[in-house]
Amino acid sequence: MGYNYYGRSPKTKKKKSGYRLFLFLVLLLALAGTGFFSFTQYLALQALRVEVDRLKEQLQKIDNENQLLWDQYDQVVKENEKLREENYMLRSSTVISHGNRNTNRVAITIDDGAGPELIGKTLRILRDHNVRATFFPTGSWVELHPEVWKAAVEKGHELGNHTYNHTFLTTVSDQQIKEELSRWQEAVDSALGFKYQTYFFRPPGMDGFTSPQGSTARRYKEIIAGKGMFTVLWDVELIYALRNEAYTTERIIEHVLANTKGGSIVLLHFNENDIAALPDILNGLRRRGLEPGSLSELLLAAVQS
Ligand SMILES: [Zn+2]
Repeated sequence: MGYNYYGRSPKTKKKKSGYRLFLFLVLLLALAGTGFFSFTQYLALQALRVEVDRLKEQLQKIDNENQLLWDQYDQVVKENEKLREENYMLRSSTVISHGNRNTNRVAITIDDGAGPELIGKTLRILRDHNVRATFFPTGSWVELHPEVWKAAVEKGHELGNHTYNHTFLTTVSDQQIKEELSRWQEAVDSALGFKYQTYFFRPPGMDGFTSPQGSTARRYKEIIAGKGMFTVLWDVELIYALRNEAYTTERIIEHVLANTKGGSIVLLHFNENDIAALPDILNGLRRRGLEPGSLSELLLAAVQS
C-alpha cells in the first residue's frame, strides 16, 4: 500500500470529497427547503391578505348600509316628530259639529247623566236597535253610579270628557280646567277599572264655543289638545231649538228627524223626554236611509269614504 505526498491514500481523498458533496447537498437542500417553506408561507400570507381585504370590503359595505339605515332612522324620527306636531295642532284647532256629509252615518251623543234607571233604559233601547252611542257624562255623575257607565262601555258605547262638575271653562283658571278634565278621567278610570282613552271633549253649556271657531275658547283649546282630545259640538240639538215651545216627545222626534242629515252629530240629554223619543228617532233615521251610531263610527266612516 503506497502513500502519496500528503500521506493520504487516494481512497481517503475520495471519501473526503464525497463527504463534502454530501454536506453541499445537505446545505443546498436546507436552502431549498427554507425557500420552499417561505414560498408556501408567502402563498398562505397572500391568501390571508386577499381574505382580509375581502373582509374589510364587506365591513365597509356593512358600515355603509348601517349608515344608510341610521340616516333613514333619523328621517323617520323627524317625520314622526312632524306628524306628532301636526296631529297636536290639528287636535287643538279641531272643533267639529258634524262629520263627513257624504256618509249616511249619524252620531248619537247623549250628555250629562241620570240615575241608573234612565241610563239602564237608554242602554236597553240602544241594544234593541243595535246602536252604539257616545255619552258625555260629567265625572260627578260617573262617580255617583259607576256601574251603569261600566256597563255602557262593556256594551260598546263610548264616553267623552264633559268635565267633572259641568264647569263653564271660560270662567275658571287654566289650573282649574286641568283639574276638571283629570278629575273626569279619574272618575271614569276608577268606574271602569282600567285607563280609558277618550278623544272627545264636549264643553259644558257650549261655553266658549258659541261659534264653531270658538274664539273665546282659544285659551283652553290647547289644554284639551294636550290631553289628547278634540272638541265635539253638534249640528242637531233640542234645548235651544225648542226653547220657546212645549218640550214634548213628539216635537223632539219631529225636530231631530227634520234636521238630521248624513254626517250629523245629534245632541240629546239624559232626560225622560229625550230618552222616550230615542226609539222613534232611531227608527225614523233608518227609514230615511241614515245609520245611527257612535262618534267613532261616524268619524271612521268619514275616513273610509
Ligand atoms: Zn252638559
